[in-house]
Amino acid sequence: MQRIGVLTSGGDAPGMNAAIRAVVRKGLHAGLEIFGVRRGYAGLLADDFVPLGAGSVGDIIHRGGTMLRTARSEEFKTEEGFARALEVLAARAIQGLVIIGGDGSLRGAERLYQRGILTVGVPGTIDNDIPGTDESIGFDTAVNTAVQAIDRIRDTATSHERAFVIEVMGRNAGHIALEAGLAAGAESILVPEEPLDLSEICARLKRGQQRGKLHSIIVVCEGAGEGFKLGDVLRQCTGFDTRITVLGHVQRGGSPTARDRVLASTMGAKAVDLLVEGQGGVMVGVKRGEIASMSINSALAEGSTFNHQSYRLAVILAQ
Ligand code: ADP
Repeated sequence: MQRIGVLTSGGDAPGMNAAIRAVVRKGLHAGLEIFGVRRGYAGLLADDFVPLGAGSVGDIIHRGGTMLRTARSEEFKTEEGFARALEVLAARAIQGLVIIGGDGSLRGAERLYQRGILTVGVPGTIDNDIPGTDESIGFDTAVNTAVQAIDRIRDTATSHERAFVIEVMGRNAGHIALEAGLAAGAESILVPEEPLDLSEICARLKRGQQRGKLHSIIVVCEGAGEGFKLGDVLRQCTGFDTRITVLGHVQRGGSPTARDRVLASTMGAKAVDLLVEGQGGVMVGVKRGEIASMSINSALAEGSTFNHQSYRLAVILAQ
């Protein structure tokens, strides 16, 4: 292994820069030559490469987003597009590729491995919906951003004695909603992984009001139902002055937390170790606090890692 590439793909996540930095610096330490591919698989097809030295990844560890930029590429999924990607990698004599992204990006990494490219996936998504790891890069930052926003909304909710429905990101995974809801002391947390009982939520809100609660915070994962529709239903069944806030993309940006920087640095360095060992078609993960690796196929085949125990705790504590 002499020359490797690194790219970020799919949705961006805070901490991706720290992962790029770790790949480059650990790669240089191992005597490798490193190229960055700009704009994910789209840039791979366009032969958009940039050589990365130690200095090129300076001053990025604290920045959100990704210095390599990211993209989605439908063309990469086609036979022709995929063949073009293989041609580009062969022409540039790239033997290994670190792919930082979500599950779609990891599927692309697996497909490249099937065609002889050593690929190592690094899970980078705020949604934390990648089964092979307890935590993905960007999740902790997104949760903290959501908690800060909910705390602010709680102040105004208390002052005006209102109910607030706050929609958070996560696609079809309720991890952000659960952790942010638990940390912010939400009255209800709505996630796709748990059954939705609107009458129970309404009853709980009314009980809270009867015992003098000045506000109600309901955190809903975007995949569990639209915040606006839910707000209408709650307004009708409780009669409360209910407001809706969709946090949206503020959750995707911002300076990564220390935890995400450490996770990204550890994972990026481990990805280089795996390539140096000649491994491919694998992803890096964290299991019970330990850095680990497993085949992408078996990791993605695992079920959801949603923490039902934490959910039940949140329900008890919200009484
Ligand atoms: P994420 O990686 O954040 O989940 P996407 O699902 O949009 O984001 O995937 C990012 C890119 O990965 C896609 O635009 C596509 O180029 C590539 N990709 C996704 N799924 C596959 C697949 N099954 N096979 C090959 N490439 C894929």
